[in-house]
Amino acid sequence: MKVPLTMPLTVLTIPCLNDNYAFLIAKPDSGEAALVDIPEAKPINDALSAHGWTLKTVLITHHHADHVQGLGELNLAPDATIVGASADAHRLPRLTKEVSDGDRFKLLDEEVQVMDVSGHTVGHIAFYMPGIAHVFTADSLMALGCGRLFEGTAAQMWASLSKLRALPDETTVCSGHEYTLANARFAVTIDPDNPDLISRKSAIETAQQNNIPTVPSRLGDEKKTNPFLRPDDPAIRAHLGMQTAGDSAVFAEIRKRKDNF
Ligand code: ZN
Ligand code: FE
Repeated sequence: MKVPLTMPLTVLTIPCLNDNYAFLIAKPDSGEAALVDIPEAKPINDALSAHGWTLKTVLITHHHADHVQGLGELNLAPDATIVGASADAHRLPRLTKEVSDGDRFKLLDEEVQVMDVSGHTVGHIAFYMPGIAHVFTADSLMALGCGRLFEGTAAQMWASLSKLRALPDETTVCSGHEYTLANARFAVTIDPDNPDLISRKSAIETAQQNNIPTVPSRLGDEKKTNPFLRPDDPAIRAHLGMQTAGDSAVFAEIRKRKDNF
């Protein structure tokens, strides 16, 4: 019989506020946990005490209030590490570890790779954990969508999404909001004849009728159905009449249509 040397990590999705998600990553055998984003403290503190976990690390994706505002009320270990983008240190809560694109560090004995995914904000980062095939994307890549362009350009967001699209299909995408049903209603206006999208849309409708979260999602499914990852798809280009445009221009058009949807 093969006995694993360590238990794998557990990742919990924590619904917060109206439609935000935080994620707890825990090592059940040691009881140590890490958190991605703090929309509000209470549901996170409740999950920590229900499992008896100690919060040792907080990873911050970007500066928006709905991703950081719970930090002050969080039940943190006294020596906890607060990780965020060096580029955004001036507008994030006080960081104890500043990171930037390409940095790697250990979290609960697993490697984390920092990816700059600017677009929604400039300085937004994602955390990729190849050892457990999870990526924490917040308001960059979302289930069937992507974040609005508040600070960055369409070209920046397309570059960010291109990097995320290059990760393996089996990667679990932990994004920041439950916007998936609205995203699905929009996606079918861009890619109406995509059978994978049509069946995913009906699965999302069923999940939402039963109050089941549609986040996290699987990157392989995003590649097949998320219009924001598909500006190079011939059917989408034909539908938009943009057969000869560059991918970034097609992405920009899809993003503009979503803003006006
Ligand atoms: Zn945001
Ligand atoms: Fe957000």
